Amino acid sequence: MRRADVLISGGGMVGLPLGLALAQGGLKTVIADAAPPAKVLEPNFDGRVSALAYASVRMLRALGVWEGLAPHAQPIREILVTDGQVGKPASPFSLHFDAGEVGAESLGHIAENRHIRAALYRAVEIAPNLELMAPAVVTSVAMKEGRAVARLKDGEEISAALVIAADGRDSSLRTQMGVQIIGWSYPQTGIVATVEHEKPHNGVAYEHFLPSGPFAILPMTGNRSSLVWTEAKTKAPGLLALDEEGFHAELAQRFGAHLGKIKAAGPRWSYPLSFHIARDFVRPRFALAGDCAHGIHPIAGQGLNLGLKDAAALAEVLLDAGRLGRDIGALDTLKRYERWRRFDSFALAVSTDALNRLFSNDIAPLRHLRDLGLGIVDSIAPARRFFMRHAGGDIGKLPRLMKGEAA
Ligand SMILES: Cc1cc2nc3c(=O)[nH]c(=O)nc-3n(C[C@H](O)[C@H](O)[C@H](O)COP(=O)(O)OP(=O)(O)OC[C@H]3O[C@@H](n4cnc5c(N)ncnc54)[C@H](O)[C@@H]3O)c2cc1C
Repeated sequence: MRRADVLISGGGMVGLPLGLALAQGGLKTVIADAAPPAKVLEPNFDGRVSALAYASVRMLRALGVWEGLAPHAQPIREILVTDGQVGKPASPFSLHFDAGEVGAESLGHIAENRHIRAALYRAVEIAPNLELMAPAVVTSVAMKEGRAVARLKDGEEISAALVIAADGRDSSLRTQMGVQIIGWSYPQTGIVATVEHEKPHNGVAYEHFLPSGPFAILPMTGNRSSLVWTEAKTKAPGLLALDEEGFHAELAQRFGAHLGKIKAAGPRWSYPLSFHIARDFVRPRFALAGDCAHGIHPIAGQGLNLGLKDAAALAEVLLDAGRLGRDIGALDTLKRYERWRRFDSFALAVSTDALNRLFSNDIAPLRHLRDLGLGIVDSIAPARRFFMRHAGGDIGKLPRLMKGEAA
C-alpha cells in the first residue's frame, strides 16, 4: 500500500497549491485528481478567468508558481462599479477604486484558469515530496489503525495521516464522510465569454449591476476582456443559443461603447450558480478545503481567493503541528484550521449572497438605496480603501504564505 503524510483528493486550483505548500514544508504528499492534466489544459476545458487578489498573488509567488503565470496575467489598475438597466446609460452614482490610491501597482490580477493550472502543474512537476496521480478517482476513505486509508476507483489504496477533500462543489468524499452542507441554487446562470475590443482597457475592470445580475468586464492580456454575465436562469439558454449576430446585439446593449468595436471570440460558456457552506470543515484525519467547503456567488470574484486562503491556512497549521512533532491528523490540530477558516468563509459567503440579492433586481426603492450606497462609499476615502483591502484579500488573520513568506 502506498503511504503518504497527506493525501489530497482533487488537484484543482486549490488542491494543487495546497499540495505544493505541504510538500515544500517537508510533508510527503500525494494529490489524486479525476481528470488527466492534458485534458484540463485544453482550451475548451474551462473558459473562465480568475480575479486573483494580491494576497493570492503573494502566495503563488512564495510557492514559485507566479513566475510562470505572470506573463499571462493582467494587472487590475482600476475597478469601476455602476448600476443600471439593459440598453440604458448607467446611473450617475458609481464607485471607483484606483490602485494608486493605496500606493499599489495593481488591485490584483486577472488570469485565465487554464494558465493558472498550467503554471501549477509545472511547479508540481519539479516539487520534491509531491506526487500527482491523474487520472485517479478517490471513491472512499476509511479509518484503519490510526490512519486514513483512501480507496481509488481502480482498487488501489493509499494510507495517510490525513486526507483532504479539495474535490469541488459536488464533492463525493464530503458526502461519503457524512459532512452536511447548508446551501441553495440561485435562479441565475453565469455566462462566460471572451470579447475582443478595438481600444485598450488600460487595466480597468467594470462591474455593471443589471436587474438580472452583475455584468462584469474583466481585463485580460492584450485587447481582450472576459465577461462574467449573470443572467436569469430562464433567459440564459436562449442567449447561449443565439447566432453570432443575435448574441452580439444582446452583448452590445450591456457592454457599452467605451472600448470601441467589440467581437465575442471563442465559445460561450455557462455555469449554474449556487451557494453552500459545510457545517464542519474537519473530522478526525479528514479536512475540507476550497469549493468542497464553500461555494459562493461569483459577484465579487472571491471563490478561488477564499480557497487559496484555506490552502495557505491549512498548510500552516499542519506544518506547525508537524514541526512540533504533533499528529497532523488529530482533531485538535485540525480544529485550529476550522476555527481560522470557517467564520471567515461564512462571513464572505453571506456578504456575497446579500450583495447579489441587493443588486440583482429592478425594485425602485432598492435601486435608490444602492445608488445612494455607491455614492456614499465613493465619497469617503477610508471606506474606498477598506473595500480595496477587502478585494485584495488583505483582511483578517493572513497565513504566512499570503504575506509572501514560506509556509
Ligand atoms: C462563472 C464563475 C466565475 C468565477 N470567477 C472567479 C474569480 O474571478 N475569482 C475567484 O477567486 N473565483 C472565481 N470563481 C470561483 C472559482 O472558480 C472556484 O472557487 C475554484 O475553481 C474552486 O477550486 P477548487 O479546486 O476548490 O475546485 P474545482 O475547481 O472544482 O476542482 C476540483 C477538482 O477535484 C477533482 N475531483 C472531483 N472529484 C474527485 C474525486 N472523487 N477524486 C479525485 N479528484 C476529484 C476534479 O477533477 C477537479 O480537478 C468563479 C466561479 C464561477 C462559476
